[in-house]
Amino acid sequence: MIVDIHTHVGEHPEHIGEGFAAQAREAWPEIRLGRTLEEHRREALDGVDRAVVLAFDAPAAGFVVPNDYVAAYVAGDPERLIGFGSVDPSRADAVDELERMSQDLGLRGCKLGPIYQDVDPLGAEFARVCAALERLELPLLIHQGTTFSRAGSLLRAQPILLDEVALRHPRLRIVIAHMGHPWFEEAIQVVRRHPHVYADVSALVSRRWLLYQALVAAVEYGVAHKLLFGTDYPFFTARQTIDGLRSVTGEAFGAGMPVIDPQIVEDIVVRPSLELLGVA
Ligand SMILES: [Zn+2]
Repeated sequence: MIVDIHTHVGEHPEHIGEGFAAQAREAWPEIRLGRTLEEHRREALDGVDRAVVLAFDAPAAGFVVPNDYVAAYVAGDPERLIGFGSVDPSRADAVDELERMSQDLGLRGCKLGPIYQDVDPLGAEFARVCAALERLELPLLIHQGTTFSRAGSLLRAQPILLDEVALRHPRLRIVIAHMGHPWFEEAIQVVRRHPHVYADVSALVSRRWLLYQALVAAVEYGVAHKLLFGTDYPFFTARQTIDGLRSVTGEAFGAGMPVIDPQIVEDIVVRPSLELLGVA
């Protein structure tokens, strides 16, 4: 069973606005933004058994994929698709929306991204959302790492801030997206200290040296078993991600360099992430 914990839907320009798109093109000139649901169904599920589909409520960044849109999509293929909603923590009705998306829409987790939402992960609005997620037993997938988007500050994007969040909300299951890139050392320390904190390996295949270092560090700190498989579709496919992970094992970087046991990667690919997050 292969579970992709991190896939996006959203069309351009309805969900991914021109402001976000312009900044994306500066960083990735070749980028094609937005996919139809039909493309997601065909491409994101190619080679995986189940995929988490993410809403995203980040008006500060010009990236808003509504909870209802995701819920309607995943309802058409409940065997394979799991929907995660999203709320902008600065919304006055953030907690009401979390309850609605969980209880009425059937969404099973929540995606947040403080740097895209321009919120402080240690602030009161964010804490209110985390307390509700903990109460509703919804896991949090959080983009806590860098981005090309200039919506928020890098100072609020550092994975180490999640240590405080995990201390305040010890029952909240947290997945740090992209291993907190490029601050994988911070992400690994937070994962190591908290039983309910994980990290996903999505999107790291485009930076092979960083992926290699991150996996070596995860093994050396004994947290490789808490790395979850994800792609960040449409930016990467499952095939690209699996090939990329396998390409940094063995003596990929030459004799004398630390060697990643290929079994570490095979275990990541088949990690039972939904069970670990309590949404199986
Ligand atoms: Zn993503």
